[in-house]
Amino acid sequence: MDRLVQEIIADLKTYLEYLRGMGIVGLPTSEDRPREVFLNSSLPPIPPTLEEVRKELGDCLRCKLHRTRRTLVFGEGNKKAKLMIIGEGPGYEEDVQGKPFIGKAGQLLTKILQSIHLSREEVYITNIIKCRPPQNRNPELEEIQTCYPFLLKQIHAIQPQIICALGTFAAQTLLKTDAKITTLRGRFYEFTPLESPAIHGGDINKSSRRVESTIIPLAESSLRHRKGEGKASSFLTGFAGIKVVPTYHPAYLLRNPERKREVWEDMKQISKWMVSHVGIDSY
Ligand code: URA
Repeated sequence: MDRLVQEIIADLKTYLEYLRGMGIVGLPTSEDRPREVFLNSSLPPIPPTLEEVRKELGDCLRCKLHRTRRTLVFGEGNKKAKLMIIGEGPGYEEDVQGKPFIGKAGQLLTKILQSIHLSREEVYITNIIKCRPPQNRNPELEEIQTCYPFLLKQIHAIQPQIICALGTFAAQTLLKTDAKITTLRGRFYEFTPLESPAIHGGDINKSSRRVESTIIPLAESSLRHRKGEGKASSFLTGFAGIKVVPTYHPAYLLRNPERKREVWEDMKQISKWMVSHVGIDSY
């Protein structure tokens, strides 16, 4: 049998097993199934639009942060961005203005993007949590878990090729690990949205060892694909092939400017990858 057909069948099998694992035993038969069915359930086949995700999030009261936030900061930028930037959560300025990364750290982020010839408008910028924690404290697990399905839907809507995870919380949440950002940064990982502790209610710290094996540096994973080993590319799940590249958070750089060089190197790697995989004109 043709190799491509075999790969498609293997993907389909993986996908059906995934659906069964989620308790879904039948597939929708019509293309014109209303999108809200997806938004109000966990059926993934049709990517939502960002507007639909925003609408579903609404005037969110799902966690305690709604009591202290001024504005829910959803995200902004190119709806079809190839590069998605994911930070931790809104700070004071973001909470006031409703836009991500517009304070001091945000200004540095703009410069970092410019250093690889990208504008804020060309990428999509959002955060792990959408509401500012009081006094900019660290996000709590429950807050991350509550927001995570919406982040997944944003990623599903945008379908980026690379996600740059800024700082510890973004990197650990997206990669489902408790490894340190110093260890994680500057490497390419496959984004594996399934089995998320945020969705299944597990503890990120406890589950990290279990899922850490899903973190595959790019060189290794592409090697395995070339050899025909490893998981079939699960393009049917809508998250196929997305890479995650963690780097230091710009707020950390403001306190530790000597680390800027490492971020510069990470961004250069991202830029290089995008030029060779996406093409410079199609950002
Ligand atoms: N820090 C973040 O992680 N996100 C913002 O939007 C602003 C500061």
